Amino acid sequence: MAASPAFITEPARNTPVGGEYDVVVLGGGPAGIAASAAAAAQGRKVLLIERYGFLGGMGTAAGVTNFCGLHANVFGEIKQVVHGVADDLLARIDRPGGLNAPHMVLGRIAAQAYDTAVYKCAADDLLLSRGVDILFHALATGVVMETDTRIKALLIETKSGRGAILGRVFVDCSGDGDLAAFAGALFEKGGDDGGMLYPTMMFRLNGVDAAKAEDAWRTIPALMDDAQKRGVKFPRKGAIVRPQKHTSEWCVNVTQVKTADGRAIDCTDAREFSAGEIDGRRQALEFFEFLKREAPGFADAYVVDIPPQLGVRETRRVTGRYQLTADDVVSCASFDDTIGVNGWPIENHVAGDVVWWWPDIPTSRGFNHLPYRMLTPEGFDNLLIAGRCASMTHEGQSAARVSGACFVMGEAAGTAAHLSLAGNSGCADISVGLLQQTLERGGAYLGRDN
Ligand SMILES: Cc1cc2nc3c(=O)[nH]c(=O)nc-3n(C[C@H](O)[C@H](O)[C@H](O)COP(=O)(O)OP(=O)(O)OC[C@H]3O[C@@H](n4cnc5c(N)ncnc54)[C@H](O)[C@@H]3O)c2cc1C
Repeated sequence: MAASPAFITEPARNTPVGGEYDVVVLGGGPAGIAASAAAAAQGRKVLLIERYGFLGGMGTAAGVTNFCGLHANVFGEIKQVVHGVADDLLARIDRPGGLNAPHMVLGRIAAQAYDTAVYKCAADDLLLSRGVDILFHALATGVVMETDTRIKALLIETKSGRGAILGRVFVDCSGDGDLAAFAGALFEKGGDDGGMLYPTMMFRLNGVDAAKAEDAWRTIPALMDDAQKRGVKFPRKGAIVRPQKHTSEWCVNVTQVKTADGRAIDCTDAREFSAGEIDGRRQALEFFEFLKREAPGFADAYVVDIPPQLGVRETRRVTGRYQLTADDVVSCASFDDTIGVNGWPIENHVAGDVVWWWPDIPTSRGFNHLPYRMLTPEGFDNLLIAGRCASMTHEGQSAARVSGACFVMGEAAGTAAHLSLAGNSGCADISVGLLQQTLERGGAYLGRDN
């Protein structure tokens, strides 16, 4: 039999135009939700494109169940430091009872648990209330350029065929920098050794006896240490096993998915990603068996949910006019072009472990500014990036990838898209002062008082 060819040539075709918008947002995670809500609030015609049938990104699709980064430890006091669109969303999650009070993490910072089903509904509700058009079940696959620096259309594949969405400004909130990469933007992956943060398959259990489990989230790591001495192997140290709003339900964050040679799988590689889903589910069931066998209160527990996809922490980081660094995070850096703040420390998922680097607590203000330049890739007039694929070093991204900072970046990107259209200027050339005023008028906190 003849060897398979490496390529085939597709026939040229006419692609139907599926709509024309002021602002096209790719991805419905925290960044995309905030970007589209903010641009629509300024009266822009906005389309949000999402490959799944629901919003929330990793927060729902990967079963994350906690907002991190909404709060900071400000001179020893836990304060909510992300507002604006996030406040509107939190209120909509809280109304039907889907939001917990914030809880402490490692005694130094707070996170806030939510119900993923309610989050999905609240995000629909928020975007519809602001007039955002949402296209679900649409996978972005390419762009058509108008000039070397200007994107004309985003190409999508849907059940009703291929389509081209025309836009005046494009905001890449895909988490993976797909849109920016299609357009030819520069990007990086991983740290100095090329290794990315390890992905995790989250899972949820029900039927936990909370009275017997007590503070299992503290005692389980000790149980794991004992089991390891007996030869039991775990994917990583530092299991996070926590009750949700209803205390019979617990969320487990412990798996770590890697290649045969031990590096983090690359979730922009279809084959690796596919193998990672299977291994993630295998690891989840293996750890569940350990909990059932050895952890008090888990004997009658059952797996209630393994989410639709593996949790991806890091893939492409698009190179913008500034990269947020580890030093910026731990030194609580200030920037003149602040668009909001990040209060989450560096949470680096390395081989077999999670390593934390903190700002000085409680003697610092506990947060760094996020500069607008992180959102503007070099060489494009009408492209912005927001969320975990924004311009950060590997370590900087290990902190500012969490939901709080992604809401901040998204809100700023959506508002900046509006200002670039209003002022007829490239996205990088808008008035940062006007952006800051507009954000503050919308309730955002830019950390300029501290
Ligand atoms: C296991 C795990 C645990 C975590 N724990 C926490 C936590 O406790 N608290 C916290 O705040 N953060 C946590 N994070 C981090 C946080 O969830 C993410 O970094 C955050 O969701 C990133 O937001 P985003 O909007 O940038 O991207 P994402 O949430 O990744 O959203 C991107 C969206 O774009 C869509 N998309 C991507 N490509 C395309 C395409 N080509 N076409 C169409 N749609 C596309 C995706 O389906 C997705 O909905 C965790 C992450 C992981 C993986």
